Amino acid sequence: MRIEHIRQRLRALGAKPLHEQRVLRLWAQALPQGSGKRRPEDFLPQPVREGLDALMAEVMGLATLRSAHPGSDGSERLLVGLHDGQTAESVLLPRDGLCVSSQVGCAVGCVFCMTGRDGLLRQLGSAEIVAQVALARTRRAVKKVVFMGMGEPSHNMDNVLEAIDLLGTLGNIGHKNLVFSTVGDPRVFERLVRERVKPALALSLHSTKPALRAQLLPRATPMSPEELVDAGERYARATGYPIQYQWTLLAGINDGEDELEGIVRLLHGKYALMNLIPYNEVESLDFQRPSWERAAEMARWLHRRGVLTKLRHSAGQDVDGGCGQLRARDSVLPAH
Ligand code: SF4
Repeated sequence: MRIEHIRQRLRALGAKPLHEQRVLRLWAQALPQGSGKRRPEDFLPQPVREGLDALMAEVMGLATLRSAHPGSDGSERLLVGLHDGQTAESVLLPRDGLCVSSQVGCAVGCVFCMTGRDGLLRQLGSAEIVAQVALARTRRAVKKVVFMGMGEPSHNMDNVLEAIDLLGTLGNIGHKNLVFSTVGDPRVFERLVRERVKPALALSLHSTKPALRAQLLPRATPMSPEELVDAGERYARATGYPIQYQWTLLAGINDGEDELEGIVRLLHGKYALMNLIPYNEVESLDFQRPSWERAAEMARWLHRRGVLTKLRHSAGQDVDGGCGQLRARDSVLPAH
């Protein structure tokens, strides 16, 4: 379901644009429907009120909690049930962040990612994306939404941008706290800059060597690391927010001196932040995580050469590792 379908249903009930906005605001912010001035009877005409319960029951059913898995770092992984029986993952992050999914499965097929293993199963509608935020807000505050869960947002651009627009206008999330995370596609750079709500951008780089990057991200739209960084820099200057570069650290693959030199060559002087994220090992995949000491040494080395770098844990790694693993293990998880 797309947000536009909810608007159409409200209009069919007789809602005016102002009523639509109010209902969507209550939903996206997960504000209680029955308290104080926010009661629908205070602002909705009778026929709209009569049909609203059934419509909202359907909307609330777009994302329901299948199971919740708290991590020791303050994060909480949520396995979210969708209306057709499919599942997606959201992760509540420390400091009021939420990571949402944009697709069930993913077509990019990154060789180190569980989500990419089965390819793309289906797109999430814009309403299903906002529904993940509404569901998360029933558990705790959400002030930042990052599109880094299952799926590649640029492969579901219309739905992701509709969700971003609603969250940035009625959902009480600051525009730079909406983070569109992508492996890169020229259409992302053409489109985002024209949007009313311009999100921040995170680009998954993972290697400065085109051939290795193509091996690691086999079905990403071909853009060389240079092209990606050039386009990212233009977007950063246009919006005033730095680009976050994501680098999943794989031992013996992209943690060598050659890559460090390549990062400095690409990012020195850029309006950018490099996030080094040591890989979460997965039993069925043959990649290793470098030691924390090695990762910290890389971060320090980059810092000394003028590349702002952060070393990050992947949230909830003690729960079930990276994205797609809860879903992959759904059949053996107890439902909460
Ligand atoms: Fe898709 Fe992201 Fe997994 Fe790559 S890492 S396969 S882009 S979900």
